[in-house]
Amino acid sequence: MREQVCCRCGRASINGRTCEKCKRYLDLDGVIVAAGYEGGPMRELVHKFKYNGLTDLATILFWVLFQAVMTQEWQGWVVVPMPLHSSKFHERGFNQTDLLARKLAGYLGAEYRPNWLRRVRATVTQTRLSQLERQANVYKAFSSSVDLRGEKILLVDDVMTTGATLGAAAQALKDAGAKVVWGVVVARG
Ligand SMILES: [Zn+2]
Repeated sequence: MREQVCCRCGRASINGRTCEKCKRYLDLDGVIVAAGYEGGPMRELVHKFKYNGLTDLATILFWVLFQAVMTQEWQGWVVVPMPLHSSKFHERGFNQTDLLARKLAGYLGAEYRPNWLRRVRATVTQTRLSQLERQANVYKAFSSSVDLRGEKILLVDDVMTTGATLGAAAQALKDAGAKVVWGVVVARG
């Protein structure tokens, strides 16, 4: 398995845990990147899965995710997929992350709660945005109306670029009371 790093500063860290210094700026306690090939075949697969609706790819991508998280204990954790804004959901007809996250929860024996996190604001595609612009773009884009006090949450997404989106989602979950929030993504884009 690839070496895991702190998702904010990029220094090596155990299992992708956020380092102490970065924890002050980030609500994510860690991010596991299952396959790290920037611009490589995994990213291409994710892209096909995401935009061409090739749901058969879900099985492959699921196993990539599963082998990355199965080395850790997730008992008592709850799996939450990164939500799409309803406008995007209608455009694509499905939330690709939901397929992966649902299956992952099943295999980990974890609870699955897709409704714990909502995207309350549509955001623009981040591809051409700088780090600061990305942070502004996703600021307050998520919310949770559930009391999450004491919950340990594993947030599933397909690709992480700067971590701004995962960070904003984690912030909403922590605002709702979540104790620990980890992310797991297929690839780093
Ligand atoms: Zn760090």
